[in-house]
Amino acid sequence: MCGIVGYTGRRECRDILVNSLKKLEYRGYDSAGIAVIENGSIKTIKAKGKISEGLESKLAETGKLDAVTGIGHTRWATHGEPSDINSHPIGNSRITIVHNGIIENYRKLKSFLIDKGYNFESETDTETVAKLLDYYYTGNPIEAISKAVTDIEGAYALGIMFKDYPDMIYAVRKDSPLIVGSGNGEMFIASDMTALLEYTKEYYLLETGEIASIRADGVSFCDLHGNKLTKQIQTATWDVSEAEKGGFEHFMLKEIHEQPSAVKKTVSPRIKDGLPCFEECGLTDEMLRNYHHIYIIACGSAMHAGMIGKYIIESLARTPVIVDIASEFRYRNPLLKSDDLVVIVSQSGETADTKAALELANEVGADTLALVNVVGSSIAREAKMVMYTYAGPEISVASTKAYMVQSAFMYLLAFRVSLARGAISEDECRTLVKKLEEIPDLISDCISDLDPYRKAASRLIGADSLLYIGRGLDYALSMEGSLKLKEISYIHSESYAAGELKHGTISLIDDGMPVIAVATQRELLAKTISNMREVKTRGAYVIAVCPKGTAIDAESADEIIEIPAADDMLMPLVAVVPLQLIAYYASVLRGNDVDKPRNLAKSVTVE
Ligand code: GLU
Repeated sequence: MCGIVGYTGRRECRDILVNSLKKLEYRGYDSAGIAVIENGSIKTIKAKGKISEGLESKLAETGKLDAVTGIGHTRWATHGEPSDINSHPIGNSRITIVHNGIIENYRKLKSFLIDKGYNFESETDTETVAKLLDYYYTGNPIEAISKAVTDIEGAYALGIMFKDYPDMIYAVRKDSPLIVGSGNGEMFIASDMTALLEYTKEYYLLETGEIASIRADGVSFCDLHGNKLTKQIQTATWDVSEAEKGGFEHFMLKEIHEQPSAVKKTVSPRIKDGLPCFEECGLTDEMLRNYHHIYIIACGSAMHAGMIGKYIIESLARTPVIVDIASEFRYRNPLLKSDDLVVIVSQSGETADTKAALELANEVGADTLALVNVVGSSIAREAKMVMYTYAGPEISVASTKAYMVQSAFMYLLAFRVSLARGAISEDECRTLVKKLEEIPDLISDCISDLDPYRKAASRLIGADSLLYIGRGLDYALSMEGSLKLKEISYIHSESYAAGELKHGTISLIDDGMPVIAVATQRELLAKTISNMREVKTRGAYVIAVCPKGTAIDAESADEIIEIPAADDMLMPLVAVVPLQLIAYYASVLRGNDVDKPRNLAKSVTVE
């Protein structure tokens, strides 16, 4: 949530800031703004709306900016409506800041500052930080920053400029992410690496309690007491083309197409001798044998990947798995013990709720395993063990390839737990791994003809509401299908365990109401078909998603989307593709902004 950028170097910074901000727009698009130092004064240009709507038209009016140092922000509003005045950068003529996070004690700070004679213009929590810095500033930026952040409670990544230091940017953070990019005679700050890939791959990870003082020729780090720190430079492995649309109309469509290679990249390096191997993170068979419970904690699509994990680990390894929503888990006093394994799943590795759940699990003394996509992210660093998914940057707010690789990882985990616990033999495990390795080709098959998905989507776009139904793994998958549709098409939908419909929900069925039935589990097929008939008899328009050759007749479904068949257990990895594409086309056909759905943002760094 919220994207921060900053530049100081020899080049005119305006376009670099705007270009970098555009790469971060998936983090929020309520407003955008930049502040630069031009002829020794701070100049701020900011506007409500997406960069292309508000900021760029204001910049066109402003014309050229003669400035080589500046900061920028794209906002996902938490405090104060999206408006010009609540946009960042926020400050006055001598200090200005951009902020990602929430200042939890902003009311207290605000009344303190009002008592000191400050007037507030915006409704943001951020303004209290800008004013606090001004209050403490007597000519030494580090001292002012140290004092201000000592008073602040909450989460923040801050980019700060002082008029008195026109060629410098300062940065500090707690809980929200921030990196310092290092170029040739130019330096950057950014919320994440995707903003900088075009300019540099070298970066420093700023840690909580560290202050970065950045000038064109380098950066120095110190702690809050001003003690100098030495930090290791890192190199990003992502490529600039991975953060571009590459000829696709939307990032989401591109990312759906990247799924076969993302699965390969995530699965292949973890196969040794035909068996899943977790050596890289130190997870041994002995550990897997001894865990009492496995918890999978996540939010949104990542939690749905965890649901797939639960079904397969429990059925194959006969080990109890508890899947929980991170924001619930941390406040419900869970029965977690030190002999449990907690798998923490997050694409960005910065999800605030998930990170808090990880902290709780670490406190309890449980083994924690982070499954994240962003290398070096907070969750990756704080967990005892980490495994990376290799999906590359995911820009579309609605997750597709990250969900896919998280789910694929669940299979590796399920197979290894089962092997370690003696639930399957090495040979059986090798066979399962082989089948998993065939999945990328089946996904490619699924996306070779997009027409059926477009057609199915056209049936949905007029509906007020619809249902996704399925049993077993198909139910776990329905949850993801329904979430995807809601996120980007804004059509209300619910996912329901097909057998549960008759206990209340079936009363919602009305003439023409679409029902998407996921029917990939052969063992449950007869029962799922009965449930499809039940809704069809009551007027529903049933779209079935099933493996090629499944015997579903016209009395049970109005439309059948056939997909390549895999082993039942592995079908979710194939069947999610039509669900993603149906949601995608529903959004396109409704004229929505597919990659930036309203009210949402990616990398949810606030609780
Ligand atoms: N709390 C700040 C605001 O509302 C920043 C929000 C964020 O980082 O998401 O402007």
